[in-house]
Amino acid sequence: MTDNHRHNGSLGADIVQRIDQLAAISEAPDNLTRVFLSKEHRAAAEVLVTWMQQAGMLARIDAIGNVCGRYEGTKLGAPCLMLGSHYDSVRDAGKWDGPLGVVTAIACVGDLNRRKVRLPFAIEIVAFADEEGTRFASTLLGSRAVAGTFVESALASRDRDGVSMREAMVAFGLDPDHIGAAARAPVEVLAYLELHIEQGPVLEAQKLPVGVVTAIAGATRLAVELHGTAGHAGTVPMAMRRDALTGAAECIVAVEEFCRSDRGGLVGTVGYINAMPGATNVIPGLVSFTLDIRAPKDSYRKMAVTDIVREIETIAKQRQLDLQINVTHENRTAPCAPWLQNQIGAAITAEGFRAFELPSGAGHDGMAMIDIADIAMLFVRCRGGISHNPAEHVDEADVDAGARVLLRVIENFTPKI
Ligand SMILES: [Zn+2]
Repeated sequence: MTDNHRHNGSLGADIVQRIDQLAAISEAPDNLTRVFLSKEHRAAAEVLVTWMQQAGMLARIDAIGNVCGRYEGTKLGAPCLMLGSHYDSVRDAGKWDGPLGVVTAIACVGDLNRRKVRLPFAIEIVAFADEEGTRFASTLLGSRAVAGTFVESALASRDRDGVSMREAMVAFGLDPDHIGAAARAPVEVLAYLELHIEQGPVLEAQKLPVGVVTAIAGATRLAVELHGTAGHAGTVPMAMRRDALTGAAECIVAVEEFCRSDRGGLVGTVGYINAMPGATNVIPGLVSFTLDIRAPKDSYRKMAVTDIVREIETIAKQRQLDLQINVTHENRTAPCAPWLQNQIGAAITAEGFRAFELPSGAGHDGMAMIDIADIAMLFVRCRGGISHNPAEHVDEADVDAGARVLLRVIENFTPKI
């Protein structure tokens, strides 16, 4: 609708240059590590405040260390379309995971500001201070504070140097007793929209620069223990063994087969296994392994978990192994709102691409933001699907495509009612 006065230049080059600038703010000289409440967190926050101000926004650091910017609409104080992503990182990270969403949002607002475009709603950008949970092993701290669901008990958790989150907040200059001030009310937020790299290989396989996310998949994690009998590797005949490790091997292959034969986006992973006593000449008597099951629909994931557990029970019984299974973690699916998915799809089509839909297997800030607003996500292709790794890469042309789509979504954004 505003095509006749759109910018002519490319946003991609500017975004890539800023991504590099942010990537240089790291605690390690030769890799990217930027964790919650560190001095690098502070330095990156100050850069983001400056960039938001240059984009015509009012910018501040909130009660948990998020950087929040606001670009007023035609009417002062109107509810906002909230854009966001995170600017903390894992250890030895890639530079695109998180910052791409923040920097692209700033570039889009900067473009509107240059053209003096005001919309019937405000635009806010939140750069979340902690999504990865690298320092204190609890994730989504920034977005939970904004959603008003920050759990106070997290303040007692300690980093690997023994510093508590409470102490770190004080050292950063924040008041741990006023985190509630970061919370936003649902009436202030028309929708939450996040641009993020895919962190998987699907868009690349589809030869598409961008995609519409349907849901952030929920996950169930289980801890499985198989108890057999440890014994001498030379003296116990094969038929008389209760080998916990071969039993586990059968279970692991069964999980893979179950998930492979599925068409509903189910994925299952055994990422950790330990065999006891763990010696070359001893039959393993006790094996523990983890199971991570994800699907874009909760009912579907729960059914799959039930079926998989039943299959493991059957294998354990056939092999006369004692079995213990515990659920160690469960989080529900965060579906992206169809009305927002439609607007993103329309913008992608208008930019000349196919509006391809895919679920997110990785967790994102939308999982917290869904408590106060409808959420949506726009994925950008990343090379080889590689992420949480310094080899993470996004082509400048794809950065630009993502920015153009996001800008179009913003300019054509129509609130729900
Ligand atoms: Zn991320």
